[in-house]
Amino acid sequence: MHADFLIVGSGLTGSVIARTLVDAGKKVLVLDRRAHPGGNVHDHLHESGIWIHTYGPHYFRTNDDEQWRFVNRFGSFYKYEAALKSWVDGNYENWPIAAGYIRRIVGEKWEPGFKGHPANFEEASLAMMPRVIYEKFVKGYNEKQWGVPAHCLSANLARRFDVRQDDEPRLTRHKHQGIPEKGYAELMRRMLEGIPVLLNCDYLRQRDEFKSAGLIVFTGPIDEYFGFDLGRLTYRGQQRTHQYLPEVDFAQPCGQVNNPDPANGPHIRTLEWKHMMQPEFSSSIRGTVLTREVTVTPENPHNYEYPFPDEANARLYKKYRDRAKTIPNLLVCGRLGEYRYYGMDQAIERAMLLARRILNGQKVMVEE
Ligand SMILES: Cc1cc2nc3c(=O)[nH]c(=O)nc-3n(C[C@H](O)[C@H](O)[C@H](O)COP(=O)(O)OP(=O)(O)OC[C@H]3O[C@@H](n4cnc5c(N)ncnc54)[C@H](O)[C@@H]3O)c2cc1C
Repeated sequence: MHADFLIVGSGLTGSVIARTLVDAGKKVLVLDRRAHPGGNVHDHLHESGIWIHTYGPHYFRTNDDEQWRFVNRFGSFYKYEAALKSWVDGNYENWPIAAGYIRRIVGEKWEPGFKGHPANFEEASLAMMPRVIYEKFVKGYNEKQWGVPAHCLSANLARRFDVRQDDEPRLTRHKHQGIPEKGYAELMRRMLEGIPVLLNCDYLRQRDEFKSAGLIVFTGPIDEYFGFDLGRLTYRGQQRTHQYLPEVDFAQPCGQVNNPDPANGPHIRTLEWKHMMQPEFSSSIRGTVLTREVTVTPENPHNYEYPFPDEANARLYKKYRDRAKTIPNLLVCGRLGEYRYYGMDQAIERAMLLARRILNGQKVMVEE
């Protein structure tokens, strides 16, 4: 089939670019090596009737009205504002940490565990809280997540959380927060409606068949694109174990409970999907599904989830990026192509920007 643009990957990045180009009258072909479109936001129905987010829990949030209107074109959302807990000292405590909790444990006048310019993640976290609190909530969680001591991680990583002065229980304060009423898989199907999508098709194994394509937008792992020939970028991913409890309505107080204490098992968090459903549907379902996640370093690119936040990987990524930039009809982008954690809102915003640049005849891979 002739297409003006070949889009490799039907995740949010590939699908938003495809939709925008098609809306502008371009011919596009989308490929994905998975058996379903939609990338990592995909979800499926458990036999109990409970919706499970196949690749980990996805809470949609954005402050951008235009983006909110865009996603609502493909299906309505119900309000879901994630509020997480951490299992600490035998209790469910708010995550992010509430200042009220710190006062309760340490007293009214507490000092941060580090003062000065933080050189690593441990110091940056201690700059926000006393050491005893850091050790209960942050250290174990992040050492499970990244598989290295916390002082080996980048200080920037600590920007992903805060200490809540007002004891705000919601994970984020975004203006629009929700989950698609008919699920993410259906949302993505509708985003791609009318656009040809070839599934079970690995571009890297079938490149020769797509030689005549114009611009190729590749949203898979950038190191895999080049056959890992400069070395592999490190990723972390989760091994998920699902358990159906037929006799229990709800097993935990919220959808996600973090497990920072290594003595309480290797899993990093437990998800209870029923909390993420609309009560009018979940109330008639018998039993509940719990999913435990244990973080690993996956070998198979299919299981890549989080780029590893350190200098060595950032340097290696830049080498691949500089190479990709020299290939005239190639744009490598998305969370795997740019080796960057993008929330769904960030992935959509970035994809919209790239699509506009493509339509203007520009090819810019990342902000310099
Ligand atoms: C565990 C986890 C939880 C998350 N939770 C949230 C959340 O709560 N809220 C939020 O806003 N964001 C969340 N995110 C982020 C969200 O998943 C990303 O923003 C989104 O997946 C980015 O889409 P993408 O298209 O860039 O990548 P992907 O969704 O990974 O899509 C890439 C696609 O390319 C395909 N592909 C790769 N290589 C090839 C090839 N050679 N040939 C053909 N196809 C190929 C893949 O099969 C895949 O379908 C979470 C991410 C993770 C890992």
